[in-house]
Amino acid sequence: IHPDDRALLVAERARAHASGEPYDVKARIRSAQGDYRTYFIRAAPLHDSTGAIVQWFGTDTDVTAIETAQSELRAANRRKDEFLAMLAHELRNPLAPISTAAELLKLTALDERRVRQTSDIIGRQVAHMTKLVDDLLDVSRVTRGLVTLQEETLVMGSLVADAVEQVHSMLEDKRHQFTIDAPGENLRIRGDRTRLIQVFSNLLNNAAKYTPAGGRITLRLRAVDGQAEIGVEDNGIGIAAPLLPYIFDLFTQAERSPDRSQGGLGLGLALVKSLVELQGGSVWADSGGPGKGSRFTVRLPLVQAIPADAAAAGVPAQPGSAAHGVQMMVVDDNRDAAQTLSMLLEAVGHQVAVSYGAAEAIEMARRCRPALLFLDIGLPDIDGYALARQLRSMRETAGAMLVAVTGYGQPDDRARALAAGFDRHLVKPVRIDEVLALVDEAAAKA
Ligand code: ADP
Repeated sequence: IHPDDRALLVAERARAHASGEPYDVKARIRSAQGDYRTYFIRAAPLHDSTGAIVQWFGTDTDVTAIETAQSELRAANRRKDEFLAMLAHELRNPLAPISTAAELLKLTALDERRVRQTSDIIGRQVAHMTKLVDDLLDVSRVTRGLVTLQEETLVMGSLVADAVEQVHSMLEDKRHQFTIDAPGENLRIRGDRTRLIQVFSNLLNNAAKYTPAGGRITLRLRAVDGQAEIGVEDNGIGIAAPLLPYIFDLFTQAERSPDRSQGGLGLGLALVKSLVELQGGSVWADSGGPGKGSRFTVRLPLVQAIPADAAAAGVPAQPGSAAHGVQMMVVDDNRDAAQTLSMLLEAVGHQVAVSYGAAEAIEMARRCRPALLFLDIGLPDIDGYALARQLRSMRETAGAMLVAVTGYGQPDDRARALAAGFDRHLVKPVRIDEVLALVDEAAAKA
């Protein structure tokens, strides 16, 4: 019997013997293998006709597995409580500047510069809150297996370039020395482009966040054992050995300074792991310990290597550098929606024809031969699916890029749009960065 449990067991037994009452007690008992296991011990007396105890009978039940499960549950529950407290804190943080800004805007004496400054503050804080809420929703959808991936063949170099683009400003702000070592930039894998960009930008973002200003971050791309391997390595704060095995668990974070200036909800790596595994890959972390930097490695199954020039053709142009002046078209019966989208497309240098109905759109498309069309699905005359089929069958637009813009984001809706001949499916309200990415893609092809 474990020394710590002996006194209790002896006392319970003595009490039961004296009173003639049954007893139960939990104690750790050493097994034949030498390790302690937890038993639930229960015994009751048998009395004779005079009431004297003649025998004790009882059971010893090994409850080690239940004990372990309970302590894991308690730990998970504690992490969840800590997470909720932190979440409340993180969501409340941006509210202070937003409410101050609202008060400021009430003052009549504000000049134009101040108004702009104040609205920038609101914009920034709202963007921060939106990111937190999006991460929360996303992690819950991904970990419950509710996301559908849109798999396509992808060139590693371009995928990684897009991820780098997303964390560019953070790397610059902290003046990190960032190096890409990419002998494997032409490697091809199959996966969901957006989700993989999310994976790599998360890892790069962490490397930037957890490496003091002026640190070194290296991204490596190579083929290993029939897989594409992407390593993100930094010389930052590192990860303590006891934390390392749990680093990809939901809500896990290292101790933080009380101001939590680095933000984050401890969701990023859980998301990274779920997304990589959903796409047949694996991810792990190494670190020499606190202060010794960290390395995160992702492996994804390769499709096959392709020649360098073909790969280069698959690399989309950098945002902003795409050829300008591509003919586009927007079809939407909501005039405000159609006009704001067309203004955006014109603002980045393209020609845009706008139509508020399908019949008119077909006529217009014949004349202006757009390379990229954004079609609303709920149109008054024929619906967007029928319109897409018709455009696909016309010589002028057979090869154009067709984008469905709808309020319906269920997997079925997406499948239906793709079946009708759409290349892409955007859910309203469309995100500007998504639109611009499509525009760059179409411009690079045109
Ligand atoms: P968050 O960054 O929002 O806290 P993550 O899930 O992305 O959540 O990361 C979980 C924890 O792992 C972080 O809080 C941090 O303690 C640790 N971590 C992640 N990346 C690194 C890194 N490159 N260097 C050191 N620690 C890291």
